[in-house]
Amino acid sequence: MLFLVLFIAVVYLILYVTIFKDQERELTSTVSQEARSIEEYLKFQNHQGGLEFFNQESVVKDVDQFFYYVVNRSGELVIGDEIIPELRTNILNVISRWNHSEDEILQETFHLNFSENRSHDKGKREEFRPMQKTDTVRLIIDGEPIFYNGEMIGTLYIGKEISFAYQVFKWLLIILAGLAILFMVVALIISNYMSKKAMVPITRAFSRQREFVADASHELRTPLSVMLSSINAMEMTLDFKKEDYSHKLLVNMKNEVKRMTNLVGDLLTLARSDSGTIEYVKERFDFRSIAEEAVESVRTMAESKQIKLQFDAPKSLIINGDSQRLTQLLYILLDNAIKYTPNGGETKLSLSVKGKELLMMMKDTGIGIKPEDHGRIFGRFYRVDKARTRQAGGYGLGLAIAKWIVESHQGSIQVSSELGKGSTFFIRIPIKEQ
Ligand code: ADP
Repeated sequence: MLFLVLFIAVVYLILYVTIFKDQERELTSTVSQEARSIEEYLKFQNHQGGLEFFNQESVVKDVDQFFYYVVNRSGELVIGDEIIPELRTNILNVISRWNHSEDEILQETFHLNFSENRSHDKGKREEFRPMQKTDTVRLIIDGEPIFYNGEMIGTLYIGKEISFAYQVFKWLLIILAGLAILFMVVALIISNYMSKKAMVPITRAFSRQREFVADASHELRTPLSVMLSSINAMEMTLDFKKEDYSHKLLVNMKNEVKRMTNLVGDLLTLARSDSGTIEYVKERFDFRSIAEEAVESVRTMAESKQIKLQFDAPKSLIINGDSQRLTQLLYILLDNAIKYTPNGGETKLSLSVKGKELLMMMKDTGIGIKPEDHGRIFGRFYRVDKARTRQAGGYGLGLAIAKWIVESHQGSIQVSSELGKGSTFFIRIPIKEQ
C-alpha cells in the first residue's frame, strides 16, 4: 500500500512538473521575446520615449495566448487584448497587485459570470472560446519590463490559459486517489484472506498444543492421586519415627506430589479456558455464605502464621455466576494474601454491592508488589521472587486463573500495592439479573 501511494505520488509529481513547467517555460520565452520585439518596434518608430503604438497587430503579432497587456510605468494599460474582455478589469487588478520578481510566474483562477455576459453577446463569445465550458479560467501570467534608451518605460504581461491542464490534473488526482483507495481495499481483502489461509496450520498447531497440555494435565491427575494416596497409606502402615530419614523423605515427597497435583489442576483449568471447553455454569446463589466458608477454611493457615483474618460482607449477597469458579477465585486471593504476609500481619476480605456491581477487596499488610510488576503478576508463570514463591508453593498460575475467572464474569481485577506495606486486590463483577 505504501509503495502504491508512493508510486502514485511520484508519477503525479513528475507529470505535474513536466507539463506545468513546460508551459511556464514556454510562457517565459514568449514574454521575453515579445518584450524585445516591442523594444525593437519602439526604436524603429523613433519615439520620444513614450509607449505609443500605431498598429497593435504589428506589435504583438504572434501572441496566441489568453491575453497580453502592455502597461506603462504608472500601471495604466497602453495596449492589450484578451480572449474574454469581461475579465480585463479582474486581470488588471491582479497584475497591479502583483509585485513580481524576475523568474516568478503568477498562477491565478478567474471566475466568469457566463450567463450575464452571454445574454447580450452570445455569438461572439462562443466563437472566441468554443472549448470553454467552465466558469473559471486558470491562467499563468508572466511579465517582462520594456526598456527604451536604457530606461524602463513599461511592462508587458502575457497570460496563458492552463484551465484544461489544470482540470486534467485535478481529475487525475481524484482518479489516482480513487484507484489507490480501491486497490488498498482489494489488497486488504486479499491479504486478510491470504493471512487467514496462512494462519490455518499455525492455528491448528496451536490448538493441537493446547489439546496436548489439556490431555497431559488430565492424564497426569490420576497417577498423581494414586501416588498421593499411596504415600498416605505408607505413612499410616509403616512404622516411622519422626526423625527418621525415610520419614522426612516421605513428607517431602508428599508435599511435592501435592504441589504437582495443584499445578496440574491449574494447568488443566487454563488449557481448558483457552480452548473454551470449560462450561460456564450460571446459577443464582448467596455469595456471602461461600465467602464465609472459604475464609473459615483458610483460617487455620492464617492462625499458624499469627495472621489476623477479617471478613466483612452484607448479610446476604445474592448474585448470578459460576459459584465454583468464584469460590476458586476467593481461595486464590485468600491464599496469596496469607502466603505473602509475614507472621503477625493482617488480612481482610470485604464484599459489598455498589450499583449493579459486586465489589471484592482483598487487603493484606504483606510484602507488597513493585509498581512495575503490577501488570505482570496476572500473567502465566509469573512470580515476582521466584525462589521465595517456590518455597511458598506457588507456580505463578493463581492470578492468571483469577483474572480469567473475573473476565469470564465480565468483571475486572486490579491491584494497588506498595512494596513492604501490603497489597489490595480490587475486583468488580457485574451482578446480572436473571
Ligand atoms: P503464585 O502461585 O506464585 O502465588 P500467583 O499468580 O497467585 O502465583 O501470583 C503471582 C505473583 O504475584 C506471586 O508470585 C507473588 O510474587 C505476587 N503476589 C500475588 N499476590 C500477592 C500478595 N497478596 N502480596 C504480594 N505479592 C503477591
